[in-house]
Amino acid sequence: MKKIQMVDLKGQYEHIKDQIDSSILEVIATTAFINGPEVHQFQKELEDYLDVKHVIPCANGTDALQIAMMGLGLQPGDEVITADFTFAATVEVIALLGLTPVLVDVNPITFNIDVDAIKRAITPKTKAIVPVHLFGLSAPMDEIMEIAEAHGLYVIEDNAQGIGAMYTSGNGSKMKTGTIGHVASTSFFPSKNLGCYGDGGAIFTNDDDLAHMIRGIVNHGMYVRYHHDVVGVNSRLDSMQAAVLRAKLPKLDAYNHARREAARKYTKAFAGIRQIVTPTGFCDAENSICAGCDCHVFHQYTLRILDSDRDALVAHLNEKGIPSGVYYPIPLHAQKAYADTRYDEADFPVTNQLVKEVISLPMHTELENDQIDYITRTIIDFVTQ
Ligand SMILES: *Cc1c(COP(=O)(O)O)cnc(C)c1O
Repeated sequence: MKKIQMVDLKGQYEHIKDQIDSSILEVIATTAFINGPEVHQFQKELEDYLDVKHVIPCANGTDALQIAMMGLGLQPGDEVITADFTFAATVEVIALLGLTPVLVDVNPITFNIDVDAIKRAITPKTKAIVPVHLFGLSAPMDEIMEIAEAHGLYVIEDNAQGIGAMYTSGNGSKMKTGTIGHVASTSFFPSKNLGCYGDGGAIFTNDDDLAHMIRGIVNHGMYVRYHHDVVGVNSRLDSMQAAVLRAKLPKLDAYNHARREAARKYTKAFAGIRQIVTPTGFCDAENSICAGCDCHVFHQYTLRILDSDRDALVAHLNEKGIPSGVYYPIPLHAQKAYADTRYDEADFPVTNQLVKEVISLPMHTELENDQIDYITRTIIDFVTQ
């Protein structure tokens, strides 16, 4: 059995080495390192793939979120609702812009933002909702868009973990995550489902005016060279990263399929084990609550471990040569930087429970059957001992 990795970027590279190497050498040969043709072409190809009008590449997924919020003109004091159970980048940029983060609890089955908790958190100061398609599963966008419309709020999708995921609306229409809200952000961090070989990110929107605004913001607020109309930032995707992304984008659906197949094998192996709750997101699965296929791209395959010591399991797996991750070990409302007297522990029963129970297993495009067997057997032996 090959050594098990949490994410196998080397193994993935081996399959596309020739194309990646020649694309990178080509960028070097042309020396168009910044804003070269590769960046523009990648932008067009991603617009086609997502079926969205505008993709604006930028330096990373955190910038993408920040720039999306700047583009919408959110002002200090505006309240922005987001999930308590996610990576800190989401709440970080809200706070950084002087906006007021309002963290709310999540759904225990999907791990995504809880719709009723959003409703309870809305005040006259609320201006936006940031759903995160956590671990690769779409947040309940029909309900979120409905709430937003009723209250005149913006929806900013954090699609860093969900690229390629499909959302099927109650009316049957299918849309890729990141194209449903007013604006969306994504990350091309190497371990993301569409990862480059450094930092990268992008903003998506179907709104022409917002896209124009954002194109200026990423470039020092310039719409005409050396005319600075708004306070912007410097946030660019470089040409080498765009070249890597162009080589990988045509494979994204196959990559996501490989992740889903690995997830399916994990879930099958864990069936009937009382101490293990497998993730939802297969349309044909018993615990599925999704409305369509391709809805989960398994950025992470995350279990809940019941009546067993999660931290001891992590240590045990480590000893057995099985990497794992705890995403996320601390609720955001309990982080020093984001503590706020407005929060009441009783408002976060789900997040407070999940941080003690969750464990994410190795998940990438190169997982082999013998590795999955070994991982699942080791976990089952531990939790049932
Ligand atoms: C990775 C990630 C980000 C940040 O992306 P970077 O490219 O690392 O800045 C933001 N939100 C979520 C949910 C993420 O997983």
